[in-house]
Amino acid sequence: MAYEANRARGVSMSFEFFPPKTEAAEEKFWESLTALAPLRPSMVSVTYGAGGSDRERTTRMVSEVKRRTGLDAAAHLTCVGASRAEVDDVVRGYQTNGINRIVALRGDPPAGIGEKFEARPDGYRDAADLVSGIKRLGDFDISVAAYPEMHPESRDWAFEIGNLKRKIDAGASRAITQMFFDNADYWQFLERCRAAGISVPIVPGIQPIHNFAQVSRFAAKCKARIPDELSRRFEGVQAGTELHGMLAAATAAQQVTELLEGGVRTFHFFTMNRSELVIALARLLGH
Ligand code: FAD
Repeated sequence: MAYEANRARGVSMSFEFFPPKTEAAEEKFWESLTALAPLRPSMVSVTYGAGGSDRERTTRMVSEVKRRTGLDAAAHLTCVGASRAEVDDVVRGYQTNGINRIVALRGDPPAGIGEKFEARPDGYRDAADLVSGIKRLGDFDISVAAYPEMHPESRDWAFEIGNLKRKIDAGASRAITQMFFDNADYWQFLERCRAAGISVPIVPGIQPIHNFAQVSRFAAKCKARIPDELSRRFEGVQAGTELHGMLAAATAAQQVTELLEGGVRTFHFFTMNRSELVIALARLLGH
């Protein structure tokens, strides 16, 4: 019954992968994607390494995803540390390979998230500028990043929402959020976006907790808050154990169910190149 109801509600999902660095990791990538493909995601996106370090790998994997699965594939692209000409070349490469979806990002300086970003004089200034540049090169479907807990470099909410609005006005069709673990942050953020006249989908980025210690470290880096209740839930529980898996599934299930009840119909899953938890959540969402 819930299955039929969710199907009828038109829930759609996208899956984010990262480009694998070793042969074994690449095997795991395809294994996970093969398991997830029958869920017919609206798109599969492949991230771009810090400072563009994975450029070739991203391009290769995105093209392969499309070729092997027939699914719509999106390439992440950052402009940090590159000239406009270099970035434009990458965009043209995507175009040549039939990739017309891009997740356009500024990226972080090599020193890390929160360090002051200095645009290169010959580079794109920020993500909004990058979106304009991509649009000039072709008719791409562009997604951008959004931050329900505010980007660490933003001085206040007016600046944060203004920055997102610039990205949408430049031609992005949707925003995908950074991971968050308290849905209240998402609802408040959504309200702020709507009040500012941003009407595109604000797709929640869902991070299933495959490994609590690892996810906590990553969340700390991008300043996504882990509520105390969640830390207590996983305290002393070893990653890889059945108990950890059960807690992770229950946690993510609670998060997506609440979002669904609140009216969300599009979800983006940070898969970490793994399939189990995402399959469980997709089933819960009626797929
Ligand atoms: P922007 O929107 O350009 O700006 C981020 C912040 O910088 C703004 O909030 C604002 O405070 C400030 N700012 C922007 N413009 C100006 C300006 N002109 N003057 C002063 N301040 C300004 N990183 C990767 O390296 N590879 C990836 O594949 C990747 N994928 C991601 C996917 C998602 C869904 C998300 C949420 C993030 C991803 N990131 C990725 C991380 C992203 O690159 C960082 O969060 C980065 O710090 C900001 O990128 P942005 O596109 O949001 O930047």
